[in-house]
Amino acid sequence: MTPGAPRRWPQAESVADLRRNLAAVQARIEAACRRVGRDPAGVRLLPVSKTRDEAILRLAHAAGCRMLGENKPQEMQRKWQALADLADLRWSAIGHLQTNKARLVARCASEFQALDSLRVAEALERPLQAEGRTLDVYVQVNTSGEASKFGLAPEQVAAFLKQLPAFPALRVRGLMTLALLSDDSVRVRGCFARLRELRDRLRQDAPDGIALDGLSMGMSGDYEIAIEEGATVVRVGQAIFGERSTPDSLYWPKAGS
Ligand SMILES: *Cc1c(COP(=O)(O)O)cnc(C)c1O
Repeated sequence: MTPGAPRRWPQAESVADLRRNLAAVQARIEAACRRVGRDPAGVRLLPVSKTRDEAILRLAHAAGCRMLGENKPQEMQRKWQALADLADLRWSAIGHLQTNKARLVARCASEFQALDSLRVAEALERPLQAEGRTLDVYVQVNTSGEASKFGLAPEQVAAFLKQLPAFPALRVRGLMTLALLSDDSVRVRGCFARLRELRDRLRQDAPDGIALDGLSMGMSGDYEIAIEEGATVVRVGQAIFGERSTPDSLYWPKAGS
């Protein structure tokens, strides 16, 4: 498979469709693990449900999904409310967060994968403490050097991590990145390798309580490469739910080239 090569992801419309797609992705995860001698139990598949309606999300739950990833806080909150009857369904906020939306994430999400500023850490900490909740977080790193991507520059991450023990409601789990959206698998792989090397380097003197084991990297077009480079979480939408009609520029401003 060539990452980024044109592929057809048919729309999933039933529990059976979703089960089949989940199983197919899981099989590819396991094959990628085998290629590099990893235990598949060390890779979590996070289904990404952005833009999908409530009815499909209910089918995904019936197909076994217990955590769903959403890019935009308001959309996540709307779905969190609509699906509140599914008591074991949890939410992972995977998109860039503005401080004025932090309250929504603190309220609805169990996990936040795009921490990239102390202002956002502060904006999350207060409402989390007020509600007596904690949040698993990943620090987002820009490994592609593209101005359109959010996240800290790799050389900023060490100093950033040193500040995070001041936010006890945030449980740091690892690092997250988006690779270059490109057909060039060598450059895509380079982004993932960069995140892993950064993690390995920083892990040695991470502050107490800061766990850096997690690497959230890889999406529908490139998750197998990400696993070969050490991903512990892959965020997969289209390969499970079907092709999205909305352009990625909605989620990565000025993406492209
Ligand atoms: C949408 C999204 C994904 C999943 O992308 P697919 O192409 O649907 O697999 C992964 N990560 C983030 C941050 C996203 O917004």
